[in-house]
Amino acid sequence: MKDFLAKIYHNLLYINNSYSHTHLDDEPKRLLLKVCLYISFLMLFFFSILHAFVYQDVSDKLFILELFTCLITLYAIYSLKRNPTPNNTNKIALISTLVFAFFLLFFASLNQNQSYGLVWTFFFPIFAIIINGPKSGLRYTLVFLTVLLIMAYNGIGHWQSGIWDEMSFIRLTASLLILTFIVYINEVSLVNAKARAQMALEEQQTLSTIDELTKTFNRRHINKALYDAIQYAERHNSNLVITLFDIDDFKQINDQYGHLIGDKVLSEMTQEIKKIIRTTDVFGRWGGEEFLILLPQESIESASQVCEKIREYIQEITFSECSIQITCSFGIAQFKHGMTPEVLIDQADQALYIAKKSGKNQVAIFA
Ligand code: GH3
Ligand code: MG
Ligand code: MG
Repeated sequence: MKDFLAKIYHNLLYINNSYSHTHLDDEPKRLLLKVCLYISFLMLFFFSILHAFVYQDVSDKLFILELFTCLITLYAIYSLKRNPTPNNTNKIALISTLVFAFFLLFFASLNQNQSYGLVWTFFFPIFAIIINGPKSGLRYTLVFLTVLLIMAYNGIGHWQSGIWDEMSFIRLTASLLILTFIVYINEVSLVNAKARAQMALEEQQTLSTIDELTKTFNRRHINKALYDAIQYAERHNSNLVITLFDIDDFKQINDQYGHLIGDKVLSEMTQEIKKIIRTTDVFGRWGGEEFLILLPQESIESASQVCEKIREYIQEITFSECSIQITCSFGIAQFKHGMTPEVLIDQADQALYIAKKSGKNQVAIFA
């Protein structure tokens, strides 16, 4: 029984809301809302004029209420046009739902128990759940149904309570609840399908930009980021420094401890380095045990200080599976007007070569 309930929850009722700030984030829904708002506005306006001047069967208060709702509808239409933020859109969805509820209840109550007056109320759960999302939509629908039933039972407006027997209530309530449930389940599955698609997309993006072992950017992403950074530096005439660094004598670690421990050293070292660099610095694996950091907006002096700091930090790292200390050599190069990414990397590589040649565990600047 417990398993069965858990299955129902996970397959029918669980909502993955993590990817959606608003349920009006896709164009068809916004269009639906727009059309409904225009129709509501025109109908409300038409009825208010009709009731006030032709049939004169509406009290002043109700006429003012109709006009007031008209104005709210206009406000919602106007707000929707002004490229709204998610918060704003949720507010517009709520306002529209209120307008729609008022409109339907008003229309139903004016139709003096005639069945077609109630038929229109069946649109409410569909509208509310699609526009507000399953959770809020369901809440608004339950409030709407309660008000509808109370109005019908008490004979508010032109309804005569006498002809409402128990059976009509049970039928009306049951059919509206079934409809609500079906629309709710449909919307839940749509929201979840969207979240799954978004998750798959993010995973795809991660796989194409992140190196699996070190969880830093891969070479493909570094190339793209370097190209973008060079464009930016050219356009804004701003600083850009890159550093290539390589673990010293890494072959020995592999030979002594094995490739698996070597892998752990690589992954733990990168996690540690991530802690001390800026989140804006692109840090990635250039290949093997060689890494690259892009340092935008950094002068060559401050970049070399940053590298010194990282170099000192690396020799202090303690690894979980072996008691070794590692050191790295750094090569730094600064972007100059007209340089290609290949030239910049080649200069950093030359500086790295000098650092290795001069005894390792040091920072060298391309001169
Ligand atoms: P140097 O100080 O001159 O850099 O000496 P080195 O021993 O580090 O020499 P080099 O950089 O040329 O060699 C890199 C070694 O790193 C060779 C390769 O077996 C090892 N290596 C490269 N990628 C990986 C990896 O993903 N995992 C492990 N465990 N080892 C790797
Ligand atoms: Mg090395
Ligand atoms: Mg190497």
